[in-house]
Amino acid sequence: RQVPPPVNEPVRTYAPDSPERAALKKRLDEMADERADIPLVVGGEEIRTGDLAQAVMPHDHRHVLADYHRARAEDVERAIRAARDARREWGNWSFEDRAAVFLRAAELLSTTWRQTLNAATMLGQSKTAHQAEIDAACELIDFLRFNVHFAQELLAEQPKSDHTMWNQLDYRPLEGFVYAITPFNFTAIAGNLPTSPALMGNTVIWKPAATAMLSAHYVMKLLTEAGLPPGVINFLPGDPVTISNALLSHEDLAGVHFTGSTAVFNSMWETIGRNMGRYRGYPRIVGETGGKDFILAHPSADPAALSVGIVRGGFEYQGQKCSAASRVYVPKSLWPEVKERCVEMMKAIKVGDVRDFRNFMGAVIDRKAFDKISGYLADARDNATIVHGGTADDKTGYFVHPTLVESRHPEYRLLCEEIFGPVVTVSVYDDAKWEQTLSLVDRTSPYALTGAVFARDRAVVTQAMFVLRNAAGNFYVNDKPTGAVVGQQPFGGARARRGRTTRRARSSISCDG
Ligand code: GLU
Repeated sequence: RQVPPPVNEPVRTYAPDSPERAALKKRLDEMADERADIPLVVGGEEIRTGDLAQAVMPHDHRHVLADYHRARAEDVERAIRAARDARREWGNWSFEDRAAVFLRAAELLSTTWRQTLNAATMLGQSKTAHQAEIDAACELIDFLRFNVHFAQELLAEQPKSDHTMWNQLDYRPLEGFVYAITPFNFTAIAGNLPTSPALMGNTVIWKPAATAMLSAHYVMKLLTEAGLPPGVINFLPGDPVTISNALLSHEDLAGVHFTGSTAVFNSMWETIGRNMGRYRGYPRIVGETGGKDFILAHPSADPAALSVGIVRGGFEYQGQKCSAASRVYVPKSLWPEVKERCVEMMKAIKVGDVRDFRNFMGAVIDRKAFDKISGYLADARDNATIVHGGTADDKTGYFVHPTLVESRHPEYRLLCEEIFGPVVTVSVYDDAKWEQTLSLVDRTSPYALTGAVFARDRAVVTQAMFVLRNAAGNFYVNDKPTGAVVGQQPFGGARARRGRTTRRARSSISCDG
C-alpha cells in the first residue's frame, strides 16, 4: 500500500501574456471586489457570531477584503467538544484513508484551487505573484504530499523481532486536541500546522493569524472540499488571548503546533507549565519562532553572488520571513564592490501594490509592523549610516523601502534584534579578523534559525560550518538563507536562548513568524 512517491510541485512563472497570469489576474479582481464573509468552522458547521473584524489589504489599507467572525467563549467550548467527538472516528480511519484526504487537497490546490490561494495570499498578505506561488501553491502542495510520505515511512518502522520474541510498534493519536496557532507570513505554514497532526489521526483546533484571514479561510474550504470530515480541524478566528487562555488551560490539551514570535511561544510554555496539574498527559509542544539570520562573507567570497544573496535574502517578501537575511558581515576588501552592486539592484526594486506584477516588493503586514520597522529606521538615522533606502510611507499602504544600513558597532541593536522588515544591517570587518568575526556571529544573537556563509575557499567553508554549527538550523553555503524547499532542506532552528517574557507578549499572541 505504498502512497504515491512525492515530487516537488513545479513553480509557475506567470510570464506576461501567459494564460496563467490572465487566470490569476481574473481571480485577483474578483476577490478584491467580493468582500468575503468569513465564518468559524466548528464540527463542520459554519458559525457566524456577528462579532466582526475586518481584513484589509496591507498595500491599500482602506480597502476591506473581508469581514471575519470572531469566536466567543462558547464557540471555543464548542470547538473543544467538536474535536473530542470527531476523535474516535477519525482515529479509526486507516492511514491510507486519512492520507487520501490530504493528497486530494494537494491535487485540488495544484489545479482548480491554485489561483484562489495565490490571489488570497497576494491580496491579504501583500505577497507578489512569485512569493505567493512558492508559498500558497508549491510549498503547501509539497507539505501535503511529503507529510503523507514521511508519515508512511514512520508508520512502517518496526522494532527487530526474532522467533523468540515478536515486537510490535504502533502510533496512536494523542488523547486530546492539538492546538495549531499559525502565522501571517506563510500560507503554507498555516496549512501545514493543522493538517500534519490531523494526518496522524489527531483532531485540531486552529487559530489563524488575524492578518492572514483570507488565505486561511480558503485553506479551510479547500480541506472541506477534499473530504475532511467535520470536527477534525476546527477553524477558530478570534481574539488570541481569549482563545489561547481557554485552550491552554483545558484538560484536553494534548499538543501545541506553533509558528510565531519567540515572546509568544515563551509565554505559552509558561502558561502550560502553570497549568501542568490539569492535563491528562504532557502536552507535546512544537514551535518555530524568531530569527536574526546572518550572511557571513569571507574575503574569498564572490562579490556578485554575495550581493544577490543579500538583496534577495533581505528584501523578498519585505524581509518578513523568519529566515530573512538581516545581519551581514563583509570584509573591508569586498565592501566597496558589494555596496555598489547592492545599491544598484536596490535602485531597480519597485515597491507597491502587488497586483502590479512589476513590483518586487509589496507592503509590510500591518500598522504595528510598519511602526516597529519605522522605529528601527529612525534609530539607524541617528546611530548608523543608511547606505540606501531608509524611507517608509503609509498613506495608501504600509510601504517600507528596502534599506541597507552600515554600522561600525558590531553589537549595534539592528545587528542583534529581530526587525521582521526590509532592513539589512552590514558590519564591515578587517580582513585579518575573520576568526573573531566567526565567533561574533555566533555570540550576538539569541536565535539560531538560518545563516549563510559566502566563500570560495573550501577550507573556510568547512571551518565556518563547524564553528557556526549551533548558530543556524539551516546553514547555506554561497546561497541566500531563505527559501527552504520541503523534502530538500528540512527547516528548523538550532537554538533559542530563553528571553524574558515581556508584559506585551503576555497579552498578545501576534504570530509574526
Ligand atoms: N521556510 C521559510 C524559508 O525557508 C521560512 C519560514 C518562516 O518564515 O517561518 O524561507
